[in-house]
Amino acid sequence: MVDVRIDMHVHSSESDGTDTPAGVVRTAVAAGLDVVALTDHDTSAGWAEAEQAVRESAPPALRLVPGAELSCESSDGRGGTVTVHLLAYLFDPDSPALRDEQLRLRAERRGRLEQMARRMADDGFPVDPEALMAGLPPDSPGGRPHLARALVEGGTVSTVSEAFDRYLGTHAPYYMPRTDTPVERAIRMIADAGGTTVLAHPFAVSRGQTVTAEVITELAGHGLRGVEVEHPDHDEPARHRLRELVAELGLVPTGGSDYHGTNKNIRIGSENTPPDSLDRLLGDCTGSKIIG
Ligand code: AMP
Ligand code: FE
Ligand code: FE
Ligand code: ZN
Repeated sequence: MVDVRIDMHVHSSESDGTDTPAGVVRTAVAAGLDVVALTDHDTSAGWAEAEQAVRESAPPALRLVPGAELSCESSDGRGGTVTVHLLAYLFDPDSPALRDEQLRLRAERRGRLEQMARRMADDGFPVDPEALMAGLPPDSPGGRPHLARALVEGGTVSTVSEAFDRYLGTHAPYYMPRTDTPVERAIRMIADAGGTTVLAHPFAVSRGQTVTAEVITELAGHGLRGVEVEHPDHDEPARHRLRELVAELGLVPTGGSDYHGTNKNIRIGSENTPPDSLDRLLGDCTGSKIIG
């Protein structure tokens, strides 16, 4: 069997990764990947640069799947609500409903990030909210990793992950929530824009509360096409349960590294999507095209 390596979950500096979009393509080529999906949080701003990087190498060194990771709100299946991430692929980024919602989310992310930084500065931490915000690309989806890096640079903590544990995690003192898109609505918006959706890292227990299997079953009824089974935050029992559930529901299993450059200790391509999943997942998409 030909060994095809596919990583369907990767971030660039257009959201909270540290490689530029072209840098992501170079890193993916160097790692020997055949297919990489660019899935920045709540933006498609990195697509053009990544596409150009693929086109500049003739013949193309890999194929690029344009995508995004949408911040959504979902029932957790236990009577509460929880933030879930939806990986979206090959949608039309100019679809008006989607464009407006992503614009709203990015503005909200930036406002919230500045407020978190402001609260820490008021409490005497060495962060400058204005400088932090000025350092982000215009209209970009700022996130907690940016503040975490500022805390590392200011000497408050030694790693991004320590910043999450002590200050920024869901149950930590400076965490602030966002108003995310209801997940059923996000699934529909992406379908209407010619794309397809995969529920990201649903059993990543390390991030706090996650959804139950019943919620995934319901989302499948709303048009969810796949589930990210292989993810660094899933332990082997979680992967096993998800593989069974996905098979039972006729969903497509995927895998991705959730590479964030030096903001996380994860290599690109460290998790993979089965080759036959790619066609099942993307075969019917009409919103945009695979590059390369
Ligand atoms: P936000 O989008 O601002 O809510 O921040 C969430 C992002 O922070 C995720 O997409 C990850 O990139 C990152 N993240 C979440 N938890 C951790 C953690 N424990 N350590 C490092 N990065 C994290
Ligand atoms: Fe992230
Ligand atoms: Fe995520
Ligand atoms: Zn991600």
